[in-house]
Amino acid sequence: MNILVCVKQVPDTTEIKIDPVKNTLIREGVPAILNPFDGYALEAAARIKDKNPDTKIVIVSMGLPKAMDVIKECIAIAADKGYLISDRPFGGSDTLATSYIISEGIKKIEELEGKFDLIFCGKQAIDGDTAQVGPEIAEHLGLPQVTYGLEAEIDGDIVKVIKEVEDGKEVIGAKMPALVTFTKPAWDPRFPTIKRKMAARKAQIPTLTAADLPTINLEHAGLKGSPTKVKKTFVPQKKTGGIKIAEETAEDSAKKLFATLSDAGVL
Ligand SMILES: Cc1cc2nc3c(=O)[nH]c(=O)nc-3n(C[C@H](O)[C@H](O)[C@H](O)COP(=O)(O)OP(=O)(O)OC[C@H]3O[C@@H](n4cnc5c(N)ncnc54)[C@H](O)[C@@H]3O)c2cc1C
Repeated sequence: MNILVCVKQVPDTTEIKIDPVKNTLIREGVPAILNPFDGYALEAAARIKDKNPDTKIVIVSMGLPKAMDVIKECIAIAADKGYLISDRPFGGSDTLATSYIISEGIKKIEELEGKFDLIFCGKQAIDGDTAQVGPEIAEHLGLPQVTYGLEAEIDGDIVKVIKEVEDGKEVIGAKMPALVTFTKPAWDPRFPTIKRKMAARKAQIPTLTAADLPTINLEHAGLKGSPTKVKKTFVPQKKTGGIKIAEETAEDSAKKLFATLSDAGVL
Protein backbone atom coordinates (compact mmCIF):
# COMPACT_ATOMS: atom_id res chain seq x y z
CA MET A 1 0.00 0.00 0.00
CA ASN A 2 1.36 3.40 -1.05
CA ILE A 3 -0.25 6.47 0.52
CA LEU A 4 0.48 10.13 -0.23
CA VAL A 5 -0.57 12.73 2.32
CA CYS A 6 -0.81 16.38 1.20
CA VAL A 7 0.06 18.78 4.00
CA LYS A 8 0.11 22.55 4.19
CA GLN A 9 2.01 24.79 6.58
CA VAL A 10 -0.41 27.38 7.97
CA PRO A 11 -0.12 30.36 10.31
CA ASP A 12 -0.88 29.46 13.93
CA THR A 13 -3.63 31.96 14.39
CA THR A 14 -7.26 32.50 13.64
CA GLU A 15 -6.59 36.22 13.27
CA ILE A 16 -5.55 36.16 9.63
CA LYS A 17 -4.19 39.47 8.35
CA ILE A 18 -4.53 40.43 4.69
CA ASP A 19 -2.15 42.62 2.67
CA PRO A 20 -4.48 45.45 1.60
CA VAL A 21 -2.56 46.06 -1.64
CA LYS A 22 -1.82 42.51 -2.86
CA ASN A 23 -4.92 40.96 -1.24
CA THR A 24 -2.85 37.99 -0.06
CA LEU A 25 -2.29 36.59 3.42
CA ILE A 26 0.45 38.21 5.53
CA ARG A 27 2.49 35.29 6.87
CA GLU A 28 5.55 37.14 8.21
CA GLY A 29 5.95 37.14 11.99
CA VAL A 30 3.24 34.53 12.56
CA PRO A 31 4.34 31.09 13.89
CA ALA A 32 3.64 28.33 11.37
CA ILE A 33 2.13 24.91 12.14
CA LEU A 34 0.95 21.76 10.38
CA ASN A 35 -2.63 22.33 9.21
CA PRO A 36 -4.63 20.37 11.84
CA PHE A 37 -6.87 18.64 9.28
CA ASP A 38 -3.72 17.36 7.53
CA GLY A 39 -2.70 15.85 10.88
CA TYR A 40 -5.98 13.90 10.85
CA ALA A 41 -5.24 12.75 7.28
CA LEU A 42 -1.79 11.57 8.37
CA GLU A 43 -3.28 9.73 11.37
CA ALA A 44 -5.76 7.98 9.05
CA ALA A 45 -2.82 6.85 6.89
CA ALA A 46 -0.89 5.75 10.00
CA ARG A 47 -3.86 3.64 11.15
CA ILE A 48 -3.89 1.87 7.79
CA LYS A 49 -0.14 1.28 8.21
CA ASP A 50 -0.74 -0.14 11.71
CA LYS A 51 -2.88 -2.87 10.10
CA ASN A 52 -0.77 -3.22 6.92
CA PRO A 53 2.86 -2.70 8.02
CA ASP A 54 4.27 -2.79 4.46
CA THR A 55 2.45 0.51 3.77
CA LYS A 56 4.62 3.46 2.67
CA ILE A 57 3.47 6.95 3.67
CA VAL A 58 4.87 9.82 1.60
CA ILE A 59 4.27 13.51 2.38
CA VAL A 60 4.03 16.33 -0.13
CA SER A 61 3.78 20.02 0.61
CA MET A 62 3.87 23.02 -1.68
CA GLY A 63 5.21 26.17 -0.16
CA LEU A 64 8.25 28.12 0.88
CA PRO A 65 11.42 26.22 1.99
CA LYS A 66 10.32 26.60 5.63
CA ALA A 67 7.44 24.19 4.86
CA MET A 68 10.17 21.51 5.28
CA ASP A 69 9.45 21.85 9.01
CA VAL A 70 5.94 20.39 8.70
CA ILE A 71 7.18 17.65 6.37
CA LYS A 72 9.76 16.67 9.00
CA GLU A 73 7.09 16.84 11.70
CA CYS A 74 4.99 14.36 9.66
CA ILE A 75 8.03 12.07 9.29
CA ALA A 76 8.50 12.27 13.07
CA ILE A 77 4.85 11.27 13.56
CA ALA A 78 4.39 8.46 11.04
CA ALA A 79 5.54 9.19 7.47
CA ASP A 80 8.43 7.48 5.67
CA LYS A 81 9.45 10.20 3.21
CA GLY A 82 8.61 13.70 2.12
CA TYR A 83 8.84 16.03 -0.87
CA LEU A 84 8.60 19.81 -1.06
CA ILE A 85 7.26 21.52 -4.18
CA SER A 86 8.70 25.01 -4.26
CA ASP A 87 9.67 27.48 -6.97
CA ARG A 88 9.18 31.15 -7.79
CA PRO A 89 6.71 30.61 -10.68
CA PHE A 90 4.38 28.83 -8.20
CA GLY A 91 4.00 31.93 -5.95
CA GLY A 92 0.62 33.67 -5.91
CA SER A 93 -1.27 30.54 -6.97
CA ASP A 94 -4.99 30.35 -6.17
CA THR A 95 -6.57 26.99 -5.33
CA LEU A 96 -6.91 25.88 -8.97
CA ALA A 97 -3.25 26.65 -9.73
CA THR A 98 -2.15 25.14 -6.38
CA SER A 99 -3.99 21.88 -7.05
CA TYR A 100 -2.66 21.78 -10.63
CA ILE A 101 0.96 22.21 -9.47
CA ILE A 102 0.51 19.62 -6.69
CA SER A 103 -1.04 17.13 -9.15
CA GLU A 104 1.94 17.63 -11.50
CA GLY A 105 4.21 17.11 -8.49
CA ILE A 106 2.36 13.89 -7.64
CA LYS A 107 2.98 12.55 -11.18
CA LYS A 108 6.71 13.17 -10.66
CA ILE A 109 6.76 11.65 -7.16
CA GLU A 110 4.98 8.55 -8.52
CA GLU A 111 7.90 8.08 -10.96
CA LEU A 112 10.21 7.95 -7.95
CA GLU A 113 8.05 6.19 -5.33
CA GLY A 114 5.62 4.09 -7.41
CA LYS A 115 1.90 4.72 -8.00
CA PHE A 116 -0.14 5.85 -5.03
CA ASP A 117 -3.13 3.72 -4.04
CA LEU A 118 -4.46 6.55 -1.89
CA ILE A 119 -4.02 10.30 -1.71
CA PHE A 120 -5.12 11.80 1.60
CA CYS A 121 -5.74 15.51 2.23
CA GLY A 122 -7.18 17.57 5.04
CA LYS A 123 -10.74 18.75 4.53
CA GLN A 124 -9.50 22.33 4.46
CA ALA A 125 -6.59 24.53 5.41
CA ILE A 126 -7.31 26.74 8.42
CA ASP A 127 -5.92 29.83 6.67
CA GLY A 128 -7.41 29.65 3.17
CA ASP A 129 -10.41 27.62 4.35
CA THR A 130 -11.71 26.93 0.85
CA ALA A 131 -11.73 23.10 1.02
CA GLN A 132 -11.10 23.11 -2.73
CA VAL A 133 -7.56 21.83 -3.14
CA GLY A 134 -8.22 18.14 -2.32
CA PRO A 135 -11.23 17.73 -4.66
CA GLU A 136 -9.38 19.69 -7.37
CA ILE A 137 -6.33 17.38 -7.15
CA ALA A 138 -8.72 14.42 -7.63
CA GLU A 139 -10.17 16.11 -10.73
CA HIS A 140 -6.73 16.91 -12.20
CA LEU A 141 -5.66 13.28 -11.72
CA GLY A 142 -9.02 11.75 -12.75
CA LEU A 143 -9.45 9.96 -9.39
CA PRO A 144 -12.64 9.14 -7.46
CA GLN A 145 -12.89 11.19 -4.26
CA VAL A 146 -14.57 10.94 -0.87
CA THR A 147 -14.72 14.09 1.27
CA TYR A 148 -15.30 14.68 5.00
CA GLY A 149 -13.67 11.35 5.94
CA LEU A 150 -13.37 10.36 9.60
CA GLU A 151 -11.78 6.92 9.20
CA ALA A 152 -10.61 4.79 6.30
CA GLU A 153 -9.95 1.08 5.94
CA ILE A 154 -8.84 -1.15 3.11
CA ASP A 155 -11.07 -3.90 1.79
CA GLY A 156 -9.37 -5.55 -1.21
CA ASP A 157 -9.09 -2.87 -3.90
CA ILE A 158 -11.68 -0.66 -2.18
CA VAL A 159 -11.09 2.06 0.40
CA LYS A 160 -14.03 2.16 2.80
CA VAL A 161 -14.45 5.62 4.29
CA ILE A 162 -16.64 6.51 7.24
CA LYS A 163 -17.62 10.06 6.41
CA GLU A 164 -19.40 12.80 8.27
CA VAL A 165 -22.75 13.93 6.90
CA GLU A 166 -25.12 16.55 8.30
CA ASP A 167 -27.24 14.15 10.36
CA GLY A 168 -24.74 11.39 11.13
CA LYS A 169 -22.26 9.20 9.30
CA GLU A 170 -22.14 7.35 5.99
CA VAL A 171 -19.83 4.60 4.75
CA ILE A 172 -18.66 5.11 1.18
CA GLY A 173 -16.50 2.69 -0.78
CA ALA A 174 -14.24 3.92 -3.57
CA LYS A 175 -12.12 1.84 -5.89
CA MET A 176 -8.43 2.65 -5.46
CA PRO A 177 -6.56 4.70 -6.56
CA ALA A 178 -8.70 7.30 -4.84
CA LEU A 179 -8.44 10.59 -2.96
CA VAL A 180 -9.96 11.13 0.49
CA THR A 181 -10.19 14.38 2.46
CA PHE A 182 -10.40 14.16 6.26
CA THR A 183 -12.18 16.16 8.91
CA LYS A 184 -11.82 16.03 12.72
CA PRO A 185 -12.43 12.51 14.06
CA ALA A 186 -13.34 11.58 17.65
CA TRP A 187 -9.74 10.60 18.47
CA ASP A 188 -6.52 12.61 18.71
CA PRO A 189 -3.62 12.00 16.32
CA ARG A 190 -0.60 10.19 17.76
CA PHE A 191 2.50 12.07 18.97
CA PRO A 192 6.01 11.58 17.56
CA THR A 193 8.43 9.40 19.52
CA ILE A 194 11.91 10.72 20.44
CA LYS A 195 13.50 8.11 18.13
CA ARG A 196 11.34 9.18 15.17
CA LYS A 197 11.99 12.86 15.94
CA MET A 198 15.74 12.30 15.78
CA ALA A 199 15.45 10.38 12.49
CA ALA A 200 13.16 13.08 11.03
CA ARG A 201 15.69 15.79 11.86
CA LYS A 202 18.23 14.04 9.60
CA ALA A 203 15.75 13.19 6.80
CA GLN A 204 16.59 14.51 3.34
CA ILE A 205 13.59 16.25 1.76
CA PRO A 206 13.98 16.63 -2.01
CA THR A 207 12.65 19.89 -3.47
CA LEU A 208 10.79 19.69 -6.77
CA THR A 209 11.01 22.84 -8.88
CA ALA A 210 9.29 23.67 -12.17
CA ALA A 211 12.30 22.20 -13.99
CA ASP A 212 11.64 18.84 -12.28
CA LEU A 213 8.03 18.66 -13.52
CA PRO A 214 8.37 17.87 -17.23
CA THR A 215 4.66 18.07 -18.13
CA ILE A 216 3.82 21.26 -16.21
CA ASN A 217 2.36 24.15 -18.17
CA LEU A 218 3.41 27.28 -16.28
CA GLU A 219 0.54 29.19 -17.92
CA HIS A 220 -1.65 27.40 -15.34
CA ALA A 221 0.63 28.15 -12.37
CA GLY A 222 1.26 31.16 -10.15
CA LEU A 223 -0.61 34.45 -10.23
CA LYS A 224 -1.03 34.50 -14.00
CA GLY A 225 -2.44 30.94 -14.01
CA SER A 226 -4.95 31.80 -11.26
CA PRO A 227 -8.47 32.64 -12.44
CA THR A 228 -9.46 33.94 -8.97
CA LYS A 229 -9.28 37.72 -8.84
CA VAL A 230 -9.58 39.16 -5.34
CA LYS A 231 -11.30 42.54 -5.78
CA LYS A 232 -11.50 43.58 -2.15
CA THR A 233 -10.79 42.18 1.29
CA PHE A 234 -11.80 43.61 4.65
CA VAL A 235 -11.72 42.64 8.29
CA PRO A 236 -15.25 42.64 9.74
CA GLN A 237 -15.71 45.07 12.63
CA LYS A 238 -15.65 43.39 16.02
CA LYS A 239 -19.16 43.30 17.50
CA THR A 240 -19.40 45.03 20.85
CA GLY A 241 -20.60 42.72 23.62
CA GLY A 242 -24.30 42.46 24.46
CA ILE A 243 -25.74 42.54 27.94
CA LYS A 244 -25.30 39.82 30.54
CA ILE A 245 -28.41 38.51 32.24
CA ALA A 246 -27.52 36.54 35.35
CA GLU A 247 -30.09 36.99 38.09
CA GLU A 248 -30.18 35.00 41.33
CA THR A 249 -32.44 32.26 39.96
CA ALA A 250 -33.14 30.87 36.50
CA GLU A 251 -36.72 32.11 36.83
CA ASP A 252 -35.58 35.69 37.56
CA SER A 253 -33.12 35.51 34.65
CA ALA A 254 -35.92 34.37 32.32
CA LYS A 255 -38.16 37.25 33.54
CA LYS A 256 -35.37 39.79 32.99
CA LEU A 257 -34.63 38.36 29.52
CA PHE A 258 -38.33 38.53 28.63
CA ALA A 259 -38.54 42.17 29.81
CA THR A 260 -35.35 43.15 27.95
CA LEU A 261 -36.50 41.55 24.68
CA SER A 262 -39.97 43.11 25.06
CA ASP A 263 -38.44 46.57 25.65
CA ALA A 264 -36.29 46.11 22.56
CA GLY A 265 -39.42 45.25 20.55
CA VAL A 266 -38.10 41.77 19.70
CA LEU A 267 -41.10 40.04 21.33
C1 LIG B 1 -5.69 35.21 -6.15
C2 LIG B 1 -5.02 34.45 -5.07
C3 LIG B 1 -3.68 34.63 -4.86
C4 LIG B 1 -3.04 33.94 -3.85
N1 LIG B 1 -1.75 34.17 -3.65
C5 LIG B 1 -1.08 33.51 -2.70
C6 LIG B 1 0.32 33.75 -2.47
O1 LIG B 1 0.92 34.60 -3.12
N2 LIG B 1 0.96 33.01 -1.54
C7 LIG B 1 0.27 32.08 -0.81
O2 LIG B 1 0.91 31.42 0.02
N3 LIG B 1 -1.04 31.83 -0.98
C8 LIG B 1 -1.74 32.54 -1.90
N4 LIG B 1 -3.06 32.32 -2.08
C9 LIG B 1 -3.72 31.34 -1.22
C10 LIG B 1 -3.67 29.99 -1.91
O3 LIG B 1 -4.51 29.92 -2.99
C11 LIG B 1 -4.11 28.92 -0.94
O4 LIG B 1 -3.26 28.99 0.18
C12 LIG B 1 -3.96 27.52 -1.52
O5 LIG B 1 -4.49 27.43 -2.81
C13 LIG B 1 -4.64 26.49 -0.68
O6 LIG B 1 -6.00 26.80 -0.56
P1 LIG B 1 -6.67 26.66 0.84
O7 LIG B 1 -5.75 27.23 1.84
O8 LIG B 1 -8.05 27.18 0.76
O9 LIG B 1 -6.65 25.07 1.03
P2 LIG B 1 -7.86 24.00 1.13
O10 LIG B 1 -8.45 23.82 -0.17
O11 LIG B 1 -8.75 24.50 2.25
O12 LIG B 1 -6.97 22.81 1.58
C14 LIG B 1 -7.48 21.48 1.55
C15 LIG B 1 -6.34 20.51 1.69
O13 LIG B 1 -5.55 20.54 0.51
C16 LIG B 1 -4.18 20.28 0.84
N5 LIG B 1 -3.38 21.48 0.52
C17 LIG B 1 -3.80 22.75 0.39
N6 LIG B 1 -2.75 23.55 0.10
C18 LIG B 1 -1.67 22.76 0.06
C19 LIG B 1 -0.28 22.98 -0.17
N7 LIG B 1 0.22 24.19 -0.41
N8 LIG B 1 0.56 21.91 -0.14
C20 LIG B 1 0.09 20.65 0.10
N9 LIG B 1 -1.21 20.39 0.35
C21 LIG B 1 -2.06 21.42 0.32
C22 LIG B 1 -4.15 20.01 2.34
O14 LIG B 1 -4.31 18.63 2.53
C23 LIG B 1 -5.37 20.77 2.83
O15 LIG B 1 -5.88 20.29 4.05
C24 LIG B 1 -3.76 33.01 -3.04
C25 LIG B 1 -5.10 32.84 -3.26
C26 LIG B 1 -5.74 33.55 -4.24
C27 LIG B 1 -7.21 33.34 -4.41
